[in-house]
Amino acid sequence: MSVTTQPKLIAPHGGVLVDRTGERPDGVDGLPTLRLTSRELSDLDMLAAGALSPLEGFMGRADYERVLEEMRLAGGLPWALPVCLAVDQAPAAERIALTDRSGRPVAVLEVAEVYDYDKQREAERCFRTTDGAHPGVARLYAQKRRYLAGRVSVFERAERPFPALALDPADTRALFAERGWKRVVGFQTRNPIHRAHEYLTKVALETVDGLLVQPLIGDTKADDVPVQTRVACYHVLLDGYYPEQRVVLAAFPAAMRYAGPREAIWHALCRKNYGCSHFIVGRDHAGVGDYYGTYDAQLIFDEFEPHELDIEPMFFEHSFFCRACGTMASAKTCPHDKEQHVFLSGTKVRELLTAGEVPPEEFTRREVAEVLIEAYRS
Ligand SMILES: [Zn+2]
Repeated sequence: MSVTTQPKLIAPHGGVLVDRTGERPDGVDGLPTLRLTSRELSDLDMLAAGALSPLEGFMGRADYERVLEEMRLAGGLPWALPVCLAVDQAPAAERIALTDRSGRPVAVLEVAEVYDYDKQREAERCFRTTDGAHPGVARLYAQKRRYLAGRVSVFERAERPFPALALDPADTRALFAERGWKRVVGFQTRNPIHRAHEYLTKVALETVDGLLVQPLIGDTKADDVPVQTRVACYHVLLDGYYPEQRVVLAAFPAAMRYAGPREAIWHALCRKNYGCSHFIVGRDHAGVGDYYGTYDAQLIFDEFEPHELDIEPMFFEHSFFCRACGTMASAKTCPHDKEQHVFLSGTKVRELLTAGEVPPEEFTRREVAEVLIEAYRS
């Protein structure tokens, strides 16, 4: 009898992939209800599927406090951002039903504790600013004043806007194993992928077995490119320019926090749960405005011992097409002057696309530009 050895994927964060899904329990209709915000619903869906392993519910005070001060859960495991549920007051029951925005019960929460928190302090620790103009801080300031902690059991999963991309951590892990991948690099994105990011993902892919392109599909700020448009861009790009057997495209249900460095750690740990051994961190990852230094999201990884995170960050510079090199490059690999580099500001790109003009092929693939032009037109 022969024994087949499967390549071993990276273990989930904390060792076990959490599953908080299950059958609808009896008596749900009689429970007090709490309607979640869309950000909280994104978190709930990720808790259900184990994307936030080892978390099994919304955080209690001990975890919350240590995450704020030391980027660790109470037990010592690295964790960078609060995953909390805001309420006005303590519920008058031991269990409550969590509802979606239409009021439909989707989960039960076992009430563990309710505690006060300081919004300014959370802003300062997590976002490195107390400025209410920061979109993550604004969301924090607008939420209810106490946190409700407890384990969740989810019996109605969130609707999947992109059914083909709806892959839970267990699904991506099964896919990777089936393909014989052991080393998989995750790429987080909330933008259309232009040549620069295509380059990063391919350079990373050259060194590993597979690539998980995982666009964030939860809430983003209003001026980011809408998710339907982005997903159309990912499809045309992957169909035309990536080998199908080396890439998986899947949705990342999270909402953006715009917490820059801390969110880079958090994004990496979530991707570890999806089975990624490596994670791409570019410049100003998850940043917004000029709240963070260009390399802060890379430097923060030094605050942990490498074995603690387990997942390996892959740091990248800003990249561009260089006419003299005749290829994509970065300041690390190209010796030429800026005049040789094809650079377009975000504003310039929007101008071109709005006018129905295709930006240079060295900046973005024509197929991607066409999707964007069509989107700007409507
Ligand atoms: Zn060059």
